[in-house]
Amino acid sequence: MISHIRFPIWMICWMGMILLSCHKQDQSPSASDHLPSANNQAPGASAHDLLSDSPYNTLQVEIAYMPDVAPDAQAIQQLQTFLETYLHKSAGIHITMHQIADAGQSTYSLQDIMQLESRYRTAFTTGNQIAVFILYVNGQYTDAQVLGITYRNTSVCVFAKTIHDNSGGIGQASRTSVEATVLEHEFGHMLGLVNLGSPMQMPHEDAAHPHHCNNQHCLMYYQTETSDLFGFLIGSPVPALDSNCVHDLEANGGK
Ligand SMILES: [Zn+2]
Ligand SMILES: [Zn+2]
Repeated sequence: MISHIRFPIWMICWMGMILLSCHKQDQSPSASDHLPSANNQAPGASAHDLLSDSPYNTLQVEIAYMPDVAPDAQAIQQLQTFLETYLHKSAGIHITMHQIADAGQSTYSLQDIMQLESRYRTAFTTGNQIAVFILYVNGQYTDAQVLGITYRNTSVCVFAKTIHDNSGGIGQASRTSVEATVLEHEFGHMLGLVNLGSPMQMPHEDAAHPHHCNNQHCLMYYQTETSDLFGFLIGSPVPALDSNCVHDLEANGGK
């Protein structure tokens, strides 16, 4: 049976607006202890460093994926184009991918995701390079409707099984479109949108949905419950950033 589960666009990110603090008292280091401080900050904290050419003139995007949910090549190409459109990185934007073991869970909590990052992340911010880590898990989030989360300044998790299960079929949005939308939307949060590290040049934050744009046609819109990302994308291109969001990026060192 084909199920038509509706996923509101506002669920695509459940961004870690939570400041992640370490309360673990046991002997083993916590997941966050393994990350250098440059990569262990709140979402949006590196917006300027990601957008501008100084102090980092190159961006390394590392994607670690579980078997059966390898990234869609066209979605990755669209992400590359998106980044080249808005980021000043004179020494280049490089996206690399490597497969990791399937952790075998049907559901991943934020703590699970942080531990996987700690185990598998190899690229960090150093020298003239700023690094971003994107984890593709073959499972769902503790909230099954969430497609992606931005949980640190340079860390994103994509719930690729949820995407696979609900796209690419007859009458469904293309997997490329859904995956590209999730990747670009989450990157938008790391770039400081909306009011999350890239100061607003004009007020456009959705008062009811913090850190999202009030333009329903914008990539950074937090869509109403009656709308639906997968349905929304059928026959439509990936939503673009609107002028208010672009202006915020430009004002914070982007282009
Ligand atoms: Zn969001
Ligand atoms: Zn916008």
